[in-house]
Amino acid sequence: MDVKVNDSCIACGACESICGDVFKVEDVAVVDQSAVAANEDCVKEAADACPVGAIEVA
Ligand code: SF4
Repeated sequence: MDVKVNDSCIACGACESICGDVFKVEDVAVVDQSAVAANEDCVKEAADACPVGAIEVA
């Protein structure tokens, strides 16, 4: 699973709250790709919860 945060991110913090092993919010959310495989369920949950649809999962 490949996870990206696009330029729409408004740094709201929701993804980090839901799936903090993968997402860290600095100026924008950044992805720890090495943690994705073990956290796929919460990555999908965070993508659904992102208010601006900035999390792209492929
Ligand atoms: S939930 Fe979406 S908008 Fe909010 S910090 Fe994460 S990627 Fe950015």
